[in-house]
Amino acid sequence: MNLLKPSLLDFTKEELSQKIKPSFRAKQIFGWIYHNYVDGFDEMQNIPKALREELSQNYIINPLKIARKEISTDGTIKYLFELQDGKTMETVWLKMKDDIFEDGKLVQEAKYTICVSSQVGCKVGCSFCLTAKGGFTRDLTAGEIVAQVLAVKKDNNHAHNRRVNIVYMGMGEPLDNLDNLTKAIKIFQDEEGLAISGKRQTVSTSGLSNKIDKLGKMDLGVHIAISLHAVDDELRTELIPMNKAHNINSIIEAVKRFPIDTRKRVMFEYLVIANKNDDIVSAKKLVKLLSGIKAKVNLIYFNPYEESSYERPTRESMVKFQEHLVNHGLLCTIRDSKGIDISAACGQLKEKELNQLK
Ligand code: SAH
Ligand code: SF4
Repeated sequence: MNLLKPSLLDFTKEELSQKIKPSFRAKQIFGWIYHNYVDGFDEMQNIPKALREELSQNYIINPLKIARKEISTDGTIKYLFELQDGKTMETVWLKMKDDIFEDGKLVQEAKYTICVSSQVGCKVGCSFCLTAKGGFTRDLTAGEIVAQVLAVKKDNNHAHNRRVNIVYMGMGEPLDNLDNLTKAIKIFQDEEGLAISGKRQTVSTSGLSNKIDKLGKMDLGVHIAISLHAVDDELRTELIPMNKAHNINSIIEAVKRFPIDTRKRVMFEYLVIANKNDDIVSAKKLVKLLSGIKAKVNLIYFNPYEESSYERPTRESMVKFQEHLVNHGLLCTIRDSKGIDISAACGQLKEKELNQLK
């Protein structure tokens, strides 16, 4: 039975070197896992058989199984993964840019972003979010976070040294699982592993201001994205109940203290919901709120799901909102709905699976 065996993906290279002796073997094994994407110890050809057997008795490598996969016409692939305890969570492979050819020659390779989950379910309970409807089940381990990127790269034959960006925007609130999150960030950064630097990793948070400070103090070089969604506390508390404890002001103050690469900006995500927060008065307040911060705003269409009480805004109101921000000096993009023909917003693939099982 594999069930209770720890995964090697839970360990940094240094920890592996403590567990596996001689330590150069630990490095070789790290290479097999992160450069060759092996799933079984028998594939590690330069590792002595006795060690391979010992390892396979005590550990597993990848703790995930692909339970379901949906491929969108735009290249987005959504995975539903089953964990060792049978729980499920989602990961999305997003194609951000296509291959670029000049005179028949490839001049720039396609660019990809992997959207990973940090928990099964979520405690924050946002009123617009499908993940919240299922409540909270458990934190993901560092290994289960790392495994998502490995499994998705492997499934897409994406070599270890080809770049990807990671966004912690799948299921769960990453800062509510800070220890495992930061361990995963460090494992991703290892130069002898996937070598995904901090600047290629973005942590999206609903705004736990004390944890934003804690992450900042760790100085991992990661970006943060703040799910702001509202400009006054009353509406924000309706949308994100824990805004009562971490109000808008406390988040803005924490963002100001967060170490940010001088060439970069803090991303503020603003989920636009028809007739709730899509008016120009809100846009004006947003400009004021973000003055003095090197910010970039990403407007997101609310993505309706069955039983959701909110509505998707019109394209026209999105563009008007964007124009107001841009005319007042804020960088602002509208997130295009990638994978709209599959189950785009977080939690929706899992929901579909559950409905089909009913
Ligand atoms: N918990 C973190 C990260 C995961 S949610 C956070 O809240 O930031 C990732 C993003 O998906 C958030 O910006 C969230 O607001 C957005 N989201 C959730 N439900 C959505 C929906 N129905 N339509 C569009 N975006 C949604
Ligand atoms: Fe949790 Fe983010 Fe969904 Fe809110 S939007 S319930 S914080 S996953």
